[in-house]
Amino acid sequence: MRRCIITGLILSLLLTGCALPGKEKQQYQATYLDIFDTVTSITARCDSEEDFWQQAGEIHDLLLRYHQLFDIYNVYEGLNNLKTVNDNAGVAPVAVDGEIIQLLKDCRDYYELTDHSVNVAMGRVLELWHEARSAGLDDPEHAALPEAAALKEAAAHSDWSAVEIDEEAGTVYLADPELRLDVGAVAKGWSAQRAAEEAPEGFLISVGGNVCATGPKDDSGTPWVVGITDPDGGSGYLHTLYDSDRAIVTSGDYQRYYVVDGVTYHHIIDPETLYPARRFCSVTVICQDSGLADALSTALFVLPREEGETLAQSCGAEAMWMDTEGNRFYTSGFSNWICG
Ligand code: ADP
Ligand code: MG
Repeated sequence: MRRCIITGLILSLLLTGCALPGKEKQQYQATYLDIFDTVTSITARCDSEEDFWQQAGEIHDLLLRYHQLFDIYNVYEGLNNLKTVNDNAGVAPVAVDGEIIQLLKDCRDYYELTDHSVNVAMGRVLELWHEARSAGLDDPEHAALPEAAALKEAAAHSDWSAVEIDEEAGTVYLADPELRLDVGAVAKGWSAQRAAEEAPEGFLISVGGNVCATGPKDDSGTPWVVGITDPDGGSGYLHTLYDSDRAIVTSGDYQRYYVVDGVTYHHIIDPETLYPARRFCSVTVICQDSGLADALSTALFVLPREEGETLAQSCGAEAMWMDTEGNRFYTSGFSNWICG
């Protein structure tokens, strides 16, 4: 979804198979680098390698389709995607696939649900940060923040009332010529959810750390185990979690960031301040729907913890926060999922 998207063929494909004593099925894993500018992995136990690749290929193709539909940087022949919608802001409604309509309707719901802390209509604000970060990473000595006035001006063009979704006509029109959509906060989780709904039972799908399990990993009901990255680096995890049928999503400040005058600026922006949210360095959400989990992980990263906790509870989600001093906070049911 970002400028440095790795396009074209699958760049890396990893297959591992390991025989389990006394079991017929083997576990396989496929890793793809051509979706959403991140690492996607698909893991499952299957009767045969052919079987696995057939299923993994179908999941990959679906995710690649979503990647193209929700891309705001590249056009694809014969396809109207979100870049087409953005390019036609103030010009004309764009006929789009039903998946774009559904994603945007869900994004509008997330915007209301999260007290406006997740706003995919603030693409212009996010673009300023994206550009400043890219320039700062290319030339660290001259790294600079976006101009405060420019951020404010961009934020004036992030109003959902200008996003006209016409379900009957199958079109989207951005009535404000200056408004841009950027669905980076939800697209991976949303797409992983749709992929999980299409996948056979017992698959573990991870799209850039947005993890969905479609059932336990074997016939005896053994759950998958999912690790939460430690923001301080190293090979350890903050926790490992059991997962048979849930979405687990983490938002962190440690993957996309740059440094200006010795201060780190990451990629999750508080719509109130228009600057990176400063309360936490990692937030993990466990819930039934991966699209919602992705939206919530961004929202809980931005909102004060009490507000985030109320929001998580109202969605039937569990969450873990780690603040910048390393303190951890949990919703009451989170411990039920902790493996280690
Ligand atoms: P990641 O994409 O790294 O998993 P998130 O799911 O939290 O992390 O999404 C962050 C991305 O979402 C950013 O790169 C940016 O494009 C976008 N974004 C950042 N802050 C917000 C926000 N408050 N509302 C909507 N989108 C946001
Ligand atoms: Mg998110």
